[in-house]
Amino acid sequence: RRDRAETFLARPAATKAGTAVRVLVNIADPSDVEAIDISTCDGIGLMRTEFLFGKTLPDEETQYRAYRKVLEWAGEKPVTIRTVDAGGDKPVPGFTVEEGNPFLGLRGIRLSLARPEIFRVQIRALLRAAMHGNLKVMFPMIAVMDEYQRAAALFAEEQSGLSARGVAQKMPPLGIMVEVPSVAIAPEAFSGVAFFSIGSNDLTQYVMAAARDNASVAHLNSVRYPAVLRLIASIAAFGQERKIQVSLCGDAGGDPAAIPALIEAGLRDLSVVPAQLAMAKAAIADVSI
Ligand code: PEP
Ligand code: MG
Repeated sequence: RRDRAETFLARPAATKAGTAVRVLVNIADPSDVEAIDISTCDGIGLMRTEFLFGKTLPDEETQYRAYRKVLEWAGEKPVTIRTVDAGGDKPVPGFTVEEGNPFLGLRGIRLSLARPEIFRVQIRALLRAAMHGNLKVMFPMIAVMDEYQRAAALFAEEQSGLSARGVAQKMPPLGIMVEVPSVAIAPEAFSGVAFFSIGSNDLTQYVMAAARDNASVAHLNSVRYPAVLRLIASIAAFGQERKIQVSLCGDAGGDPAAIPALIEAGLRDLSVVPAQLAMAKAAIADVSI
């Protein structure tokens, strides 16, 4: 199966009937790109930045260099970098707080907005890195429009600050993850957001009330349950109607068993782990719609 899949790697992905599907990759460490041939994918659909926040909080220069490296590697292809999603299953010493119920607590954008002095450092690094490629920035764990507006306002403030100091910078398109059900149910509340990216790992756990890291409820953690698929289809339809890009960057995007249902739900942009790139393209080629 792998051998057959490898033959799809070099070509753009398309279904049996020829419908094009863009396949991007998810990375964490900037060095992850060294093992990927850029010509085999449509860009980076998700760069998780939590790895940078491992032991000590990274300074602006460290972050800038990490983001710039990936942007230069990708050339003209899009690179979507997600602002730090600390908390939940991703604790960061010195940043996240001890909580009884971390998946429902101060994580993702909630934590970044609660600690703006840390968030602003990442924002400046991203604004500067945007000069070096096709950057898009997205916010994790958005639940309400106010969070997006506050995050976007911080970007605008930092941009003014940099430009007043004569530092080269550029405002990237700002989008949001769709991983809290409130966004998937009422996307019309998020007008002005540049793009949506479905985080099926978290969206599934919140819709099914089954923790993503708990093996005893793993059977409930599938995007293929009707409630999850219906939400995905409705946000895909919303995007099509409003001409706003809706992609998916959760693990389901690289799962050959889930891919037919995701395409059927209307998605045409999937971001997958590099190890699943060939398998995902092969699975797309088998889809008949
Ligand atoms: C997701 O929730 O599906 C996602 C892509 O983000 P993470 O796995 O980093 O929470
Ligand atoms: Mg998530």
